[in-house]
Amino acid sequence: MISPPPSPSRRNSPTATFGYRTVPIAEKQARVDGVFDRVADRYDLMNDLMSGGLHRIWKDALVTWLAPPRRGRTSFAVLDLAGGTGDVAFRIAARSATASVVVGDINTAMLAVGRARARTQACGDRVRFVEADAEDLDFDDENFDAVTIAFGIRNFPRVDKALAAAHRVLKPGGRFLCLEFSTVDVAVLDRLYDLASFQIIPRLGAMVVGDEAPYRYLVESIRRFPNQARFGAMIEEAGFDKVSWRNLTGGIAAMHSGWKL
Ligand code: SAM
Repeated sequence: MISPPPSPSRRNSPTATFGYRTVPIAEKQARVDGVFDRVADRYDLMNDLMSGGLHRIWKDALVTWLAPPRRGRTSFAVLDLAGGTGDVAFRIAARSATASVVVGDINTAMLAVGRARARTQACGDRVRFVEADAEDLDFDDENFDAVTIAFGIRNFPRVDKALAAAHRVLKPGGRFLCLEFSTVDVAVLDRLYDLASFQIIPRLGAMVVGDEAPYRYLVESIRRFPNQARFGAMIEEAGFDKVSWRNLTGGIAAMHSGWKL
């Protein structure tokens, strides 16, 4: 069957990637929300199963690079964007007695899991969960000492808008740190990684969450995300200075850092 040509307005409308698909940009966020609605309850368990616990080491590395002051008289204000169930926020608050962390996330199901977790954490009273769209932040300018994003930015429809918003809410001298899946550049590891990504992870999703689609989206969206150098350039374009990055596990993940000077 021959499909009719797209209407002119649809043909010219801006697009975004959703995994390997190209969708109208206005549709991407709803699709992403659907992914996290489906996985929220098993999100933390799946992270451990998929990565063999590696995500914990990567998140610890992010907090080590951030180096929040362990103590001090003034509070160290952090915004953890796309913070989901609070994994990074709890690590920062546990490491630094002076840190207060706002977890901003667009998904109510992920935030609900995070709030329940906060009640079981000693540092939970210094972590606050708020609904927030990373591209349109409802915080004052120059409000935070640091903005972190872990495994979130790949899901945003307009990465440039989110980077600009992160820059706006940072205080002068503040730091942006982003942890994301990236491009593997180690022979053999890249092939093993592809095998695990496409053959094992969606099946694991089907077994644990009862749905492989969210995990097929995960592995496809990783492949569509800019590599280390290209993403570094995007951070610079948003106005950050002294941009640098560090690979983790051969580039399976990478951390990017930029300063608002
Ligand atoms: N940072 C957490 C971690 O590392 O475990 C959660 C990462 S999870 C893979 C991605 C998160 O991005 C989800 O909680 C999702 O709701 C959130 N997200 C997606 N689009 C968003 C947006 N536009 N603004 C804020 N959060 C968003």
